[in-house]
Amino acid sequence: MRIIYACPACHTTTSIDGIESRDSLECTACHAALPMPPDAFAGREEGDTRPPRLQRCLACPSLELFVRKNFPQRLGVAIVVAGLAASCVAWANRELLITFGILFGTALLDVLLFFFMPNCLSCYRCGARYTGDGVASDADDPADGGHQFGAFDLETHEKHRQLVARTKQLGSDPTHP
Ligand SMILES: [Zn+2]
Ligand SMILES: [Zn+2]
Repeated sequence: MRIIYACPACHTTTSIDGIESRDSLECTACHAALPMPPDAFAGREEGDTRPPRLQRCLACPSLELFVRKNFPQRLGVAIVVAGLAASCVAWANRELLITFGILFGTALLDVLLFFFMPNCLSCYRCGARYTGDGVASDADDPADGGHQFGAFDLETHEKHRQLVARTKQLGSDPTHP
């Protein structure tokens, strides 16, 4: 599993692979280390052949994560913009069928891409992202604890946003209590 997080010390976006087998996360820029919480992963029991499942955020004290598609937003926007530009050219050439064909095609491509993109986990509080094995997938059986995080929830998001805002007001760093 890979983590992509903003280092609490220097705010550099850091990406670290194989976090299941690490004792700490070290920032690639300032080498500040985040200790790995002991309750970070589930499924380490003997006989469990599935990859360890992430239980909480590793970059901040938050226990709440949400599942979303690991879809690069810029790619989605780029496809739409390219489709619009191409359809404008076709429209200018009075190619009606091609114009709508391009618009429909790009919309379909976006939907398909989204559908086949793997899931990732995102932290409500610090925005850290987790990808790869052990991230909740749609095929996970909820009965054996494989899928404990849900989709994005606005209420939870708002709770964390206010929590962070309040901590900032007090003048302390929320990631270092
Ligand atoms: Zn750093
Ligand atoms: Zn976090």
